[in-house]
Amino acid sequence: MLTLNLGYPRIGSHRELKKVCENYWAGRASLNDVVTAGKNIRKENWLLQKDAGIDMIPSNDFSFYDHVLDHSFMFGAIPARYHEVIQQKGNEELDLYFAMARGYQKDGLDVTAMEMTKWFDTNYHYIVPEFYPNQQFKLFSTKAINEFYEAKQQGIITRPVLIGPVSYLLLGKEKEQGFNKLSLIRNLLTVYADLIRKLQDLGMDWLQLDEPFLATDLSPQTRQVYIETYKQIRKEFPFLKIFLTTYFEGLRDNAPLAAALPVNALHIDLVRDPGQISRVISLLPPDKILSLGLVDGRNVWKNDFRHSLELISYAQEKLGRARVWISPSCSLLHSPCDLDNEPETEVLTAEIKQWLAFARQKLSEVVSLGKLASGERSAALEGELKHNQQCQENRRHSPLIHNVDVRERVKAISPADARRNSTFSQRKEIQQQKLGLPLFPTTTIGSFPQTSEVRSWRARFKKLEINEQEYVQLLEKETAKVVKWQEAAGLDVLVHGEFERNDMVEYFGEQLRGFTFTTNGWVQSYGSRCVKPPVIFGDVWRPAPMTVRWSAFAQSLTSKWMKGMLTGPVTILQWSFVRNDQPRAETCAQIALAIRDEVCDLEKAGIQIIQIDEPAIREGLPLRQEDRATYLDWAIRAFRIAASGVADSTQIHTHMCYSEFNDIIGNIAEMDADVITIETSRSQMELLDAFADFRYPNDIGPGVYDIHSPRVPSREEMVALLKKATEVIPHQQLWVNPDCGLKTRGWNETMKALTEMVAAAHEVRQTLTEEAEL
Ligand code: GLN
Ligand code: ZN
Repeated sequence: MLTLNLGYPRIGSHRELKKVCENYWAGRASLNDVVTAGKNIRKENWLLQKDAGIDMIPSNDFSFYDHVLDHSFMFGAIPARYHEVIQQKGNEELDLYFAMARGYQKDGLDVTAMEMTKWFDTNYHYIVPEFYPNQQFKLFSTKAINEFYEAKQQGIITRPVLIGPVSYLLLGKEKEQGFNKLSLIRNLLTVYADLIRKLQDLGMDWLQLDEPFLATDLSPQTRQVYIETYKQIRKEFPFLKIFLTTYFEGLRDNAPLAAALPVNALHIDLVRDPGQISRVISLLPPDKILSLGLVDGRNVWKNDFRHSLELISYAQEKLGRARVWISPSCSLLHSPCDLDNEPETEVLTAEIKQWLAFARQKLSEVVSLGKLASGERSAALEGELKHNQQCQENRRHSPLIHNVDVRERVKAISPADARRNSTFSQRKEIQQQKLGLPLFPTTTIGSFPQTSEVRSWRARFKKLEINEQEYVQLLEKETAKVVKWQEAAGLDVLVHGEFERNDMVEYFGEQLRGFTFTTNGWVQSYGSRCVKPPVIFGDVWRPAPMTVRWSAFAQSLTSKWMKGMLTGPVTILQWSFVRNDQPRAETCAQIALAIRDEVCDLEKAGIQIIQIDEPAIREGLPLRQEDRATYLDWAIRAFRIAASGVADSTQIHTHMCYSEFNDIIGNIAEMDADVITIETSRSQMELLDAFADFRYPNDIGPGVYDIHSPRVPSREEMVALLKKATEVIPHQQLWVNPDCGLKTRGWNETMKALTEMVAAAHEVRQTLTEEAEL
């Protein structure tokens, strides 16, 4: 029985990749530094998988930015607007690659970045491939080949990982109308064939093709494309050993299709859907291997060996040992690297730590499960099994987890607790009277640049180099500065800048009970951006106000409206590692009550506008249509519980970004926020059509510039976007704001961009007044 891994985190166990890339982009490191860092990370990863005892190790799971972009790049799916980048003197292939990821502004060239969106239901973002009619693909970069060769030189025959051709097309977007991206499959298969041939020449044994879309709803046409595609690959490569993976959901109605595709091994996610094992086994043709995804690649809890061993022995009985592989549920990309890098702290106590497993520990779990299931017996192995079961037992009964009051309060939530007092139109009038804002009010999403200086204060405070009073003084000064700057820039609704926050979820988690934190538990979010999700291990409650002092302080500095800034319950849930011993809905309701108390306290402190960010509401959406209504019910209700404790005159905002919201527009309306600010600029306001078609009733601030790139948009660009918005949305409903928070931007570009944005709003206001006068 073989053990395998589907993919390993590529940021490096100490975020080496982030550091070197950011240094390179800032001109502080050379291309050679970047290339070397990549090589080192790959080597470290391969060796530690080998040392852990994993039988089949992947390659091409590394990426300098994003693995979907890697495929577009390998296949030569490079939009024409980037071609000049490579012609510019001194630019290398990797510069072109980074230009596609991040946009490019240098020496007179000005190109925007490619669109980015969430990877299935994770908090990882990928760069969306762009497709055109009759697009031709050719092997432009040989990354997968190079990395296979590199590992081979180190004595490891890896299993190259490619996104399967059907999933690759499904991940992309048609950039012209009137054609179906799946029609490109023939052209695309020629480049897969080319790649496979080259890998075979180098001695490839197994090839992994990831087809996560097999775990989603598929149309009959798409199913047909699957059948034909894999038939074609098999025809061209009769002896190629293909390992087809599915993850993030059970196969359900696609099980017959997946089981029948002419591949040699099939991977299923048994963490998300353990129940599918019997059905998939009954459908599996003789000789096909089944890879059991048992160790949770999406969460941090120690595997329950007894439960896994039951599943393995069931599979073994039906299929025989040789046809069963053991592996994590999906790539470990979504797990932090190594629990051994975690010091015990006040919050990550020895007791809690023993409940956890990170990527490296998960490899060991896979290996141990393999040994235990093979009947291998040794004192060490027995000890491990016993320890594993003790940890599970300890976690179930730990007093750290349970709080009766919280449970009672959740049970007592009434429908009225999840409803504002009056309708939106009534509220709008009351708020307009109180707030007196102009048409096209300007605002930002909350954070302002977190410079290395600001971050150094926090680091020094944590290291006790400065005391709390000194730390707070520094933050107050920075807050005052940003309040003054916004006043001078002419923004209508100000924010305090969020300088006191490391992260929009961690900051709240740290002040809530039931959360714990790691020191190095970083996970890639997009490109060089990593997040360190809190771990929710117990019942959640709020011992004291969390943000009131900062909002009240900032409000005291200005006569303009200061917007309070909170993270919503669904986003806190979604961006944390969540306990797996109770339904997510239950945990979410607990968080909602804590945020509700904060909203009420902000109102009491005189804050009239309160934003509750829910950027993650869409990504929590189950992959399968049939599961969505249930999720949306509890998620929307949680937001409303958080938002509905205030008077009609208090304006509630929400903010969302980085998702396709078209399909949940009705639910977004049900959230009944007075204002929603939303990411739209990268897709050129496409999203607004959905709001228009739906006749979205409340106010909307479509993002007019992309804050995920250092590029400064021109006033004309923003005016054009706003005009586009007024074509579909009544102007009385529109706000003007960037796509998202400015935390990752530099001050220089931020000041320029916001100044232009305010000017754009003025220009549009002016045009409107003139038109009205005509
Ligand atoms: N208020 C947050 C900020 O501005 C929102 C961040 C987000 O949507 N991801 O940073
Ligand atoms: Zn955002």
